[in-house]
Amino acid sequence: MAKRDYYEVLGLARGADADAIKKAYRQKAKELHPDRNKDNPQAEAQFKEANEAYEVLKDADKKAAYDRFGHAAFENGMGGGARGGPRGQGDFASAFSDVFDDLFGDFMGGGRGGGRRSAAQRGNDLRYNLRINLEDAYAGLQKTINVPTAVTCGSCKGTGAEGGSEPQTCPTCSGMGKVRAQQGFFTVERTCPTCSGMGQTIKNPCQTCHGQGRVQKEKSLSVNIPAGVETGTRIRLAGEGEAGMRGGPTGDLYIFIEVNAHALFERDNTNLYCRVPVSIATAALGGEIEVPTIDGGRSRVKVPEGSQTGRQMRLRGKGMPALRGGGFGDMFIELAVETPVKLTARQREILKEFEKLSEENNPQGSSFFNSVKNFWDSMKG
Ligand SMILES: [Zn+2]
Ligand SMILES: [Zn+2]
Repeated sequence: MAKRDYYEVLGLARGADADAIKKAYRQKAKELHPDRNKDNPQAEAQFKEANEAYEVLKDADKKAAYDRFGHAAFENGMGGGARGGPRGQGDFASAFSDVFDDLFGDFMGGGRGGGRRSAAQRGNDLRYNLRINLEDAYAGLQKTINVPTAVTCGSCKGTGAEGGSEPQTCPTCSGMGKVRAQQGFFTVERTCPTCSGMGQTIKNPCQTCHGQGRVQKEKSLSVNIPAGVETGTRIRLAGEGEAGMRGGPTGDLYIFIEVNAHALFERDNTNLYCRVPVSIATAALGGEIEVPTIDGGRSRVKVPEGSQTGRQMRLRGKGMPALRGGGFGDMFIELAVETPVKLTARQREILKEFEKLSEENNPQGSSFFNSVKNFWDSMKG
């Protein structure tokens, strides 16, 4: 299941202010506090969820990051380990980097736009959607992907000018990228029509790239997907996006993970849920069943005598790994008692006898039937 929105967790509208957040959190904390909700795992989970949401939203910087990127802001590369860790595993693994790097780069005035555009422009960021299986999300995987992208033109080395000639300062705007025109009483400033705001013109454009300084190409990348990713996890490969225009810096590549639904397991964060059929005899008498685990193994689980459909059993540590380390979730097995079908004559005979014995064994009938009888009696009156 996808992670809930932090504002939603606290019952707030997106972008609520600090006061509202504090108030909403206090309210939730009071309501869901474990002292008030003994043996209520749902309240416990919600309490944790509210704490996590508040940890992020109370911090102005983290809140700004969350408002901008959602949960993706805190996935991958957040921990100190991710920075130093993957280096040395090849060029692309080392490109794992902290989402905050580019975030704060923008805040600190590294932002684009405004003023004159420089001739060199940063390349676009690219998004690549990657679907993987739950098994791969469990174990992590190394994957080669082919990304259609723009790379620096080899013929002109990215300058866009043919045969080693240099781009010229635009004669129309003298390199300002903007021109002024008198319109009635006003002076209007607009983007230079000659150079489209670049401030430079190329007399003799490169024939390979038509003066763009880059060409389209499919790039093959080896990507390291860490264990514990889930749908919505975003992995940033710095400098693997499109090449910049005329020698500008390269954009980044973002890999968005989508994890396929699994035939056996349902996932909720790090926990896994598996519904396991159990025979009437095993459910009634108790016994042992064998269940599959996500690592491809199997575990034996004791079924207590008299188990009903819906009974849950927990296998500790048999869930998914946490993305930023910190161990594994649990696996929950939910029993589903199966009614036997396609009976032989002998089985039929035994069941009929069993039914007869059950009536003799419990002549008052079950509490359900007593309730029904009372209900009907009350309707008569
Ligand atoms: Zn110009
Ligand atoms: Zn070129």
